[in-house]
Amino acid sequence: MAGSAPVGRGAFVFSSIGKLLASGYTAAMNIFEKIVSREIPATIVYEDEDTLAFMDIGPVIKGHTLVIPKTCYDQVAGTPDVVLAKLMRVCKQIAAAQMKGLGADGVNIIQNNGKSAGQVVPHIHFHVIPRFEGDGHHWNWHTQKYNSPDEMERLAAKIREGLDG
Ligand code: AMP
Repeated sequence: MAGSAPVGRGAFVFSSIGKLLASGYTAAMNIFEKIVSREIPATIVYEDEDTLAFMDIGPVIKGHTLVIPKTCYDQVAGTPDVVLAKLMRVCKQIAAAQMKGLGADGVNIIQNNGKSAGQVVPHIHFHVIPRFEGDGHHWNWHTQKYNSPDEMERLAAKIREGLDG
């Protein structure tokens, strides 16, 4: 039939994929998957069957901890609710532990999605960052103003549309 792959070629492709999988080949892993598989080291503070929390190597404030699922999902919108619920429970535990163990006065929990939002590692993660009175860190949080109430309402309507379905 026109357009379909010749049987011989299809068989070759399937056999090659089979050989690759049998040889232990996996698609390139991101850095957090390598931490999960212990291919590279990390300073782990918490682990259970599906979650890992470890020290960020570039802390915004010392004690900055990352919470990740062991299974890789890229961004929040594509992550199953049950996984997100578990991640948030662990974030809560880490935040409480930073306050109790490090004497933090407060905690920021931050989660970046996409390059424009500052996401570098394509494996969903929550930053749990201990904060101390006078620690000197300030988020670059410049607020804007809507041109009119109408502009705000139009954007709200688009978000509501996005919620449908
Ligand atoms: P994001 O910009 O939200 O993707 O955050 C990625 C975070 O991963 C950054 O804060 C990095 O410092 C941190 N990071 C990258 N590589 C490692 C690593 N090998 N161990 C611990 N933290 C890491």
